[in-house]
Amino acid sequence: MLTLNDASPQVVELIQNLGVKIGNYFIGPDSEGVFHVNIPSYAVRFSDTLQRSNGVYFALFDIVLYNRMPQCPILDRTLLHEVIHWTGHTRRLNRNYISNRVLTIEESHTEEVIAELGMLKLCDRLGIDTAPILGWSSEYFHIYYLADREHSERESNRAIDYILGVQAAKAA
Ligand SMILES: [Zn+2]
Repeated sequence: MLTLNDASPQVVELIQNLGVKIGNYFIGPDSEGVFHVNIPSYAVRFSDTLQRSNGVYFALFDIVLYNRMPQCPILDRTLLHEVIHWTGHTRRLNRNYISNRVLTIEESHTEEVIAELGMLKLCDRLGIDTAPILGWSSEYFHIYYLADREHSERESNRAIDYILGVQAAKAA
């Protein structure tokens, strides 16, 4: 099972500097062999999403959760992808991530591409090799084909600027 120690030190440091709340969950069999979602302290209704995910950002709780038993065992990718979602919160870049309406399919595809592009850019900034991730990412871009690519490109850059700005303010 993954722990935060499986992430690169610079990723852990970034998360701490940004003040991102982190938790984890796992989907595994209990003593009777029944699979269930175990998320301490959080009542989560999105088990379908969680089962397919390596991580998730819950805007409602403003928390990033990672799957301790992921399909893609690259924790850096998962954490940084979710951190980009985190920047979209109404108190940050306000990408309508929390809203009173359900996002359109195009909007949710766009948000996913923003997070994935932002993750790759953040890896570059942090000196994390993206080679082991690229296959996974291209599959991701393929799945979220309805995304507005130009908008995603712009918004992922804004997310990086936001993160670097918080880092710089912290260092000052
Ligand atoms: Zn995502």
